[in-house]
Amino acid sequence: MKKKTLDPLSEKENQNLSKISSDKLISKSPSGPISSKWTNHKNSINLVNPANKRNIDIIVVGTGLAGSSAAASLAEMGYNVKTFCYQDSPRRAHSIAAQGGINAAKNYQNDGDSIHRLFYDTVKGGDYRSRESNVHRLAEVSANIIDQCVAQGVPFGRDYGGLLDNRSFGGVLVSRTFYAKGQTGQQLLLGAYSAVNRQIGKGKITPYNRHEMLDLVKVEGKARGIIARNLETGEIERHAAHAVVIASGGYGNVFFLSTNAMGSNVTASWKIHKKGAFFANPCYTQIHPTCIPRSGDNQAKLTLMSESLRNDGRIWVPKNIEDVKLIRAGKLIPTEILEENRDYYLERRYPAFGNLVPRDVASRAAKERIDAGFGVNKTEEAVYLDFSSAIQRYGKQEAAIARIKNPSNSEITNLGEKIVESKYGNLFQMYEKIVAENPYKTPMMIYPAVHYTMGGVWVDYNLMTTVPGCYCIGEANFSDHGANRLGASALMQGLADGYFVLPYTIGDYLSEDIRTGPISINSEEFDLAEKNVTDKLEKLLIIKGTKSPDYFHKRLGKVMWEYVGMSRNEKGLKTAIKEIKLIKEEFWKDVRILGDRNSLNPELEKAGRVSDLLELGELFAKDALNRNESCGGHFREESVELDGLQKGEAKRDDKDYSYVSAWEFNKEPSEAILHKEHLEFNDIELKQRSYK
Ligand SMILES: Cc1cc2nc3c(=O)[nH]c(=O)nc-3n(C[C@H](O)[C@H](O)[C@H](O)COP(=O)(O)OP(=O)(O)OC[C@H]3O[C@@H](n4cnc5c(N)ncnc54)[C@H](O)[C@@H]3O)c2cc1C
Repeated sequence: MKKKTLDPLSEKENQNLSKISSDKLISKSPSGPISSKWTNHKNSINLVNPANKRNIDIIVVGTGLAGSSAAASLAEMGYNVKTFCYQDSPRRAHSIAAQGGINAAKNYQNDGDSIHRLFYDTVKGGDYRSRESNVHRLAEVSANIIDQCVAQGVPFGRDYGGLLDNRSFGGVLVSRTFYAKGQTGQQLLLGAYSAVNRQIGKGKITPYNRHEMLDLVKVEGKARGIIARNLETGEIERHAAHAVVIASGGYGNVFFLSTNAMGSNVTASWKIHKKGAFFANPCYTQIHPTCIPRSGDNQAKLTLMSESLRNDGRIWVPKNIEDVKLIRAGKLIPTEILEENRDYYLERRYPAFGNLVPRDVASRAAKERIDAGFGVNKTEEAVYLDFSSAIQRYGKQEAAIARIKNPSNSEITNLGEKIVESKYGNLFQMYEKIVAENPYKTPMMIYPAVHYTMGGVWVDYNLMTTVPGCYCIGEANFSDHGANRLGASALMQGLADGYFVLPYTIGDYLSEDIRTGPISINSEEFDLAEKNVTDKLEKLLIIKGTKSPDYFHKRLGKVMWEYVGMSRNEKGLKTAIKEIKLIKEEFWKDVRILGDRNSLNPELEKAGRVSDLLELGELFAKDALNRNESCGGHFREESVELDGLQKGEAKRDDKDYSYVSAWEFNKEPSEAILHKEHLEFNDIELKQRSYK
């Protein structure tokens, strides 16, 4: 008998579900031991036979790593796929920016890695706010991803003997990060894009580039298509399918300044939210500790310095405030500060993990030093990331290998710099181009910046949202990272979802559609959705106000950073909610968009995205206000350890907050309804997260 995907549940379904956390939230985590859940699930879900796949259409919105890998796999399996992206080519998705690497439990370093350890590190790193079953599956399929990508020709870094090399990322005690110099995302995306292109050539994927999805179409409660705008001609188009997959990336740009690509936005996720998809943990944001500091008010983007740099770079500020003042005044340079006068504060506070503590911990520690007055640049918002020790260490090693007797200091430095260049050359070059300082000779200056959003569209174990037939994958969903993502795990999750999870789970749902036949775009539901889209575009154009969309976006970003940024408190969050509402009101009275909707109009595109970010921003602050505990990237000033070894660290509250917050849209973000998916930990002991 076929499983239904809608409430109410049959008795059999009820038995199969390990938890039903609220009337509408059903995680569909399979029962049984954690290590066999995924295998058993794959063995028991419904399949679509190859001939029937040819009669089924799937829309994939987004062609980053998650969307491209899903589209290529689904097409390879025989489904008819349409892809959508707003860039001019799938290979220009934001994923291309990923620098440092991708995790996998291969244990190539023989350092004790295993599926269990990756599972454990990810649950602990996420501060015990993720679903165990999903994370275990992620760890299980991680190794397959590397094999898949190698087969596609992704040029991962190799060691001297030709085997795939690994490096370490934060929050773990093993080396499991595969990399392609500082361009891992680009190389992985080229691999996925080649797979997509192959299917385009075979006629199994039809690409709609420069198209923006502006609404989801539901027919009889199921996702049956989208409304998209052709960004070049302005034409509004209807596209029908048996299922819709959202792979539209993260929403870090709600802060205006972030390391995300300028175009990254929340529109696709927000549109499905408004059509019934719950939005989970919107307040879980990752602030990355190693970014190039802001230089002024006219900046639109922040640049990441990959976490891989913390393998060899040591983070410090001067011990003495007088030295800080002299540096700011240009009377002292960092290389003149003696070793004993440097505060390697991560090594001091977290001896077990040192500079490789997870991102949330490293960012907060930087903020603590900066709030105490130790910021080393003119805006007082920077700490040092220093490679001099690594250069010396590598230099001596290389001199020994080359049998150089009594090498001079400059010989050691030259040899060491060559090794550092071979590992991080392009990142050093990027830093030098932006900051105009040579990071081989003087420490980099870095500061935390918004980087990734762990929150996103709520999905069940099959990656289906609360709208039947609408799936969400990659950074756009809330799934595997809990309250904090570990470095190099986003690429792993996006590709796991696209190559290895969704292609199996979507069949379970689509097996009910083998007799449905093509979905028509000539229906009342499509008429209505199209009208909603055109009405909103007209409403924006008719305002003819005085301020650009960017003006409002910047204001939103400032409020978000000030009150909903690295640390949050009740008063600030209430202020943020009020201010965001005011900005939203002003936006709808005073935004100015030139041009019309029937041609290329980037300002109109931006205005639509900003209006969605304004709504999301309010829900984000509301979620942060509701969660009166500190966990992962969400730091509430009211919830801090007051004594003992952990004094000053974030304090989680498992008794009251061990749940996923899933918000149901209800007219306005302020009216959103909270549903809770209670988290159970059967295979990992809930503990205080310590990196000391
Ligand atoms: C600078 C930087 C470096 C990073 N480095 C690493 C790293 O080393 N390792 C790691 O694991 N992670 C890294 N990350 C995170 C990682 O890159 C992202 O989480 C991941 O690439 C997101 O992939 P995605 O496929 O989910 O979304 P994206 O790559 O953001 O793709 C989104 C797609 O959706 C499309 N889209 C969006 N909205 C619409 C719409 N309305 N209509 C049509 N199309 C739409 C876009 O056109 C695009 O094709 C890094 C992130 C940044 C910012």
